[in-house]
Amino acid sequence: MSTKKVVVIGAGVAGLTTALLLSKKPGYKIVVAAKHMPGDYDIEYASPWAGANYMPVSIGGTEAAKWDKDTWYPLADLAKNHPEAGVHFQECEIHSRAKDKGSATANWFAELLSPNPWFSKVVPNLLVKVQVAPKVVPAPRHGLGHGFHFISQCLGNGVIFKRAVYNHILDAAADCSVQLGGKADLIVNCTGLMASKLGGVEDKSVYPARGQIVIVRNDAGGKMLDVSGTDDGDDEACYVMTRAAGGGTILGGSYQVNNWESQPDPNLAIRIMKRAVRMCPQLTNGKGIGSLDIIRHAVGLRPVRQGGTRIEKERIGGLWVVHNYGAGGAGYQSSYGCAQAAVDLVEEACGTRSML
Ligand code: FAD
Repeated sequence: MSTKKVVVIGAGVAGLTTALLLSKKPGYKIVVAAKHMPGDYDIEYASPWAGANYMPVSIGGTEAAKWDKDTWYPLADLAKNHPEAGVHFQECEIHSRAKDKGSATANWFAELLSPNPWFSKVVPNLLVKVQVAPKVVPAPRHGLGHGFHFISQCLGNGVIFKRAVYNHILDAAADCSVQLGGKADLIVNCTGLMASKLGGVEDKSVYPARGQIVIVRNDAGGKMLDVSGTDDGDDEACYVMTRAAGGGTILGGSYQVNNWESQPDPNLAIRIMKRAVRMCPQLTNGKGIGSLDIIRHAVGLRPVRQGGTRIEKERIGGLWVVHNYGAGGAGYQSSYGCAQAAVDLVEEACGTRSML
């Protein structure tokens, strides 16, 4: 069987995980081509901004829940057995306030706040309490470190990385022919929010949900804290989480639908810090926000897609394209499940899938 030449467009968590899983299969030559790579910070690049925790919001019985479930086991393995991956376990307390019932955040968190979420059978040490709703042990990641870990693993498996910006998805096929030794047989589309603008795709059901955060050096005491809503509006959120490997503590946040603003809003930043310090006084030993030691203010855009992540194969201009984009606020916690589903489609399209 001849080697199949594949271009993965995108080096966010979706592109890197898909390239990594595909590179473990024999018979593929792979190039990851992207405008942004780990180490870059840009409003078109969601992955560096995520707290990157595992806190499923998918509804039991759906495809999304399966992708989340299939992601738990590899993440737990990384946390337990591969410290170099920068993935760690962290206790998480989620507070459910009765007054948030029916709000956008509470609806988004519905499964998470339910007394018997589907993942109670997957995630160990899940305690469901009345009022102080699920207490879980998630696996947050340090996004940046994890990106580099993925690149190293991909490089070890022979994947080639290159910078490129495409106006049309099919431009990638010829553009990578030098690295692939000929025109690509298949393109994997992991362009996140930019799938809404990429020629040949232009998916208008993809839109941003803006997340503003403050990253500080202060310590939250090792726990992640989250609450079902705030008193400052439906599109604001309150969470505190510590990143692995000295990545700082993230104070969040917001979920502002269809808002493309790349610059931090200073008033929102003050509200985020005030809420975080109120919820987690140990951040500043009971002192106010003046005692927060700020690393940076930041904004990321979650690539949300109406109807959920798109994992499909499609013929475009006579070439197979496999899509894996639109994970919204769940790109890390669904990463392995989505990537595996995309790899299955690549194998189907290339006729390399074993039915055993
Ligand atoms: P991206 O990371 O945006 O990557 C897209 C890639 O495609 C980039 O490399 C880009 O350069 C490339 N690209 C796009 N267009 C082109 C083009 N035309 N030509 C060449 N290259 C192109 N998720 C969780 O699971 N847990 C969390 O706790 C969590 N917290 C979050 C908090 C915040 C504040 C934010 C903003 C997001 C959070 N998320 C979380 C969501 C998560 O960050 C995203 O779902 C995920 O990063 C999306 O990854 P992606 O690879 O699809 O897209």
